[in-house]
Amino acid sequence: MGEKNSVRPRKVPLRQCTGCGERKEKKELVRIIKTPEDQIMIDLTGKKNGRGAYICNSTECLRQARRRKSLERSLKTVIPDEIYEELEKEMDNIAEG
Ligand SMILES: [Zn+2]
Repeated sequence: MGEKNSVRPRKVPLRQCTGCGERKEKKELVRIIKTPEDQIMIDLTGKKNGRGAYICNSTECLRQARRRKSLERSLKTVIPDEIYEELEKEMDNIAEG
């Protein structure tokens, strides 16, 4: 008897990395957004307004997303090279903590 009170593990919502396509917990990913002003930026708070895409905290995944244009597709915008370079630099900073 007595299974009715068993605690169900809380489901963690997973997000897909735009680069490698792996599904991970939100906290393991970096959120990149397009603001209403059409700026592309990394959203460290995860709370900014705008269309968002998730990516591993890895420049490797960023490069993959760049090559495959999957980030542009997710954000429905064209991302110039210099923005990708900015994002890469920012990610390096995050990785270093
Ligand atoms: Zn990834």
